Order: sequence, then C-alpha cells, then structure tokens
Amino acid sequence: MEEFVKLSPELIAELTAVAGSTNILTDPDSVETYSKDFYWYSPILKAKLDSKRADAVVKITNLEMLKKVVSLCYKAEVPITLRGAATGNYGQCVPLYGGVVLDLNGFDRILSLEGGVARCEPGAKLGTIENEARKVGYELRCYPSTWVKASIGGFVGGGSGGIGSITYGGIRDADNVKSLTLLTVEAEPKLIRLEECDTIKAQHTYGTTGIMVELEMRLGVKRSWDQLAFSSTSFDALLDFTANVATDDQIPKRLVTLHEWPIPSYFKPLKKWLPADQHVTFLEIESGAASDAVTAKAAAAGISMCHFIPAHEPRRSPMLSDYTWNHTTLWAIKQDPTLTYLQSGFGENYREKFKLLRAKFPDEIYFHLEFVKGNAKMGERFSAAGCGGIPIVRFKGAKRLQELIDYCTEIGVFTANPHTYFLEEGGRHPEIASKRALKAEADPRALLNPGKMKTYPINPFAKEPASV
Ligand code: FAD
Repeated sequence: MEEFVKLSPELIAELTAVAGSTNILTDPDSVETYSKDFYWYSPILKAKLDSKRADAVVKITNLEMLKKVVSLCYKAEVPITLRGAATGNYGQCVPLYGGVVLDLNGFDRILSLEGGVARCEPGAKLGTIENEARKVGYELRCYPSTWVKASIGGFVGGGSGGIGSITYGGIRDADNVKSLTLLTVEAEPKLIRLEECDTIKAQHTYGTTGIMVELEMRLGVKRSWDQLAFSSTSFDALLDFTANVATDDQIPKRLVTLHEWPIPSYFKPLKKWLPADQHVTFLEIESGAASDAVTAKAAAAGISMCHFIPAHEPRRSPMLSDYTWNHTTLWAIKQDPTLTYLQSGFGENYREKFKLLRAKFPDEIYFHLEFVKGNAKMGERFSAAGCGGIPIVRFKGAKRLQELIDYCTEIGVFTANPHTYFLEEGGRHPEIASKRALKAEADPRALLNPGKMKTYPINPFAKEPASV
C-alpha cells in the first residue's frame, strides 16, 4: 500500500496567503478535474489512474509566486505535480500520491520572438506562439496536434514532436531547443540554466527534474501551407506516393500522414470528402510550386486528390492536422471505445513489417503512419525521413497487447509504450543517468511527480524502494 499525503490546514492557509484565495482550489470537483489528463486513451492506465487525486491545486501566475509556493511545499514535504494544459496521454499530470498540483497555464507570457527564437514562460500556448511568430515572419518548427491548447512547458516536459517534424525532427532533435531555465524545489528555490544539447536531460521528464520557468525554442521561417488530402483503394500505391513525398527534400512540407482504411471512417466531420473504403494521405505542403508539384506527382501515380484547403493567413480551422498524430486515436476511440493505440517506429523495410503484423494480428491493428525526420544530434544533418506512426489497435486485454508489443520488438518495430506512466518504459532515454543526476540537483527531496521516474532511487511516498 502507498502512503497518501494529506495537506495540513496550516499549509493550505500559507499557500492561500502567498497565491491569493482565488488561486487555490480544494473542492472535490476541481481537484478531480485538475488531477487528470488524457491517460484514459489507454485502458490499462485508466484502471490504474482513475482513482488518483491531488489534495489541492494552486494556479501560478508568475515566477515570484511560484518560488514562494515551491518553498512552502518543500518545507511541508508534499508531492508537487506540474500541469500545463494536461493534454498528455500517459498520466504525466496525474499525481500518484496526492499533494499539490501546480497549474502553470496563467504563467504564460511570450517574452520575445527576436532572432527567430521564441522565449516564453512555460504556460504560453503553442497556438498563441505560432500566431504571434507568424506576424513577424516565423513559425513553430514542430508542434503537437493539440497546439491550440497545449503549453510550451508541457510540450517539452511530456511531448515528442508532431506537425513540422517531417522537416525539423522532434523537440529533442538538432538545435530545436536553445535553452531551458529550471527552478529547483528547495527552501530557497534557485534557477538552473541549461543550454543547447545540455537541455536534453530536462526534456520529456514529466516534470520530475525541476520546474521549467523559461524556455527558448528556435523557430522556422514562416511559409504558407496548403492542406491536401489524397485517397486510393490501394494501400501500397498510396504508401509509395506518400513515402516519395516524405523523402523528397525539394518539397517544403509540414505534415505527411497516411491512414489505412477503416481509420478514415472515424473522421465523421470529413465524411463528405473522404471516399468510403479508401486509404487516405493528409499533407501540408508549401503553397505554390511545391503544392503543384505534389499534385502532379499524385496524378502521375494514379492517386486522386479528394480535398484541398488553400493556405490562409492567419491559419484557421478546418485543419487536417486535427485528424493526425494523436488526434487520430481520439477520433477512433470516440467511434469505438474498444480501440486503443501504440506508438511505433517502423525502421527499415517497413512494408514487410506491415505484412507480418497484419498476418499475425488480423483486424487488430490498423496503420496510421506519420513520416518524420529524427535522431539528428546538434550540428548533424538529418537522415532521410523515417516511417513511424500511431497504429490503432483493438484492445483484447493487457496480455494480448503485450503479445503485440513483443512481436513488434521481435520483427524490429520500436514501441514507445503509451500504456505505462513510467517515463523510462514509455520511450528511449539513453541519457537517463543524467536525468537522475539533474533530478538530484533540482529536487533534493524527490517531491516532483513522485513515482514517474521508475529508476530514481528515492521516493519518500512509496513503501517499496525503486528498482535502479
Ligand atoms: P501537460 O499534459 O500539462 O504536461 C505534460 C508533462 O509535462 C507533465 O508531466 C507535466 O508535469 C510536465 N510539465 C508541464 N509543465 C512543465 C514545466 N513548466 N516544467 C516541467 N515539466 C512540466 N504529443 C506530441 O508530442 N505530439 C502530438 O502530435 C500530440 N498529439 C496529441 C493529440 C491529442 C488529441 C492528445 C490528447 C494528446 C496529444 N499529444 C501529442 C500529447 C500532448 O498533447 C502534447 O505532448 C502537449 O504538448 C502537452 O502539452 P500540455 O500543456 O498539455 O502538457
């Protein structure tokens, strides 16, 4: 059994004094709302996390307030869970041991966009940054399909990449992150500034390695993006065309997604455009010559265009990206709650791997593919675009899901498992030792999101010691 923390009335009074009564929530409905994210995509996480609750929520609006709140939580030794827009999918924002949720949405200024670098407070919305950047000739390099709501702090703390990753890779790739400034959890919280490659140890750590209070992310040069949808009855023909566009470096692009039928049938608002029983590809391509060239490529390959949304400034709905990345899974689960998902890297010979998976798991896996560039260290050039994706999976129990994941491993398909809340099990963390070292420095009492970094040796709230 775990030990749950209860906040003392004295601590609540002290938090109220420093944050103001309107910024503290302790009523059961609010606390429940602020203790959840999108973990319910996974039936496994749903069963594990549904009952977890914080004891109080503090809405942070600025750094000075944050420092005082953190100092009080440190002295009282209570768990602290950081929360942006809470669109994460792995229970990253769900407190396992109660304590305080810090809602960072109001700590959200864009401090500068000069020189093609967005310098922001953590709660700044990616959609707002994109819109403001476009006014001065820039745009986000990559962003999640939840860009309208998601915060920059939450993206770096819990996301990986998304729209734009076909050109710029994921968050951690190349020089996308310029710097991160962290606040430590101590009686007198300090700032730690990390730059360039060194920021990787603070990325994708689910708010366990310090509180990001300022982020600098490099921007791309603004382009105008047409949105194009193509369809075909032949999966292989559509895949050939899509892979060709993905790997053609002469074509400026932001999105290359392919959905196997029946996935398009889940997109109810697009029903009038998407032909029944056909696989579809959604693209964002620079308008003008590039968009024309892609349309010509499709025609030459016998692939039909089924929808076209010309570029518009400012960018506005409808967005085909609302049906890509992990939005696809949302549409699928809405239509059929027995569906769930995996996050896969298909590597070399992916066509062969699709065949093997279909043969072994017929009608249990449908391919939603996202093409991305990845794994470019600072100063290196990207290799050709790779084929990853978020396949839709019919859930037939935890054992069967594990069989699927094991088979993927056997045939060389990498899985970033979205059915675990342990950060080490959810993806690749080759630098986990440096993440643990950063946590020791930034969070000496191990109060930040306890239980999420599985290999961290100290968890004051767990009965069992961690397995390092
Ligand atoms: P939150 O969920 O609030 O937080 C994420 C993690 O970061 C938490 O562990 C939190 O504690 C931590 N954190 C938050 N702020 C800070 C801070 N200041 N300092 C340190 N840690 C912090 N993800 C992608 O990468 N790409 C996608 O395309 C994508 N598509 C999605 C589509 C849907 C429909 C859904 C539901 C999710 C999707 N996601 C995707 C996941 C998620 O939306 C993104 O990762 C998003 O950027 C998270 O931002 P957020 O503000 O909601 O973060």
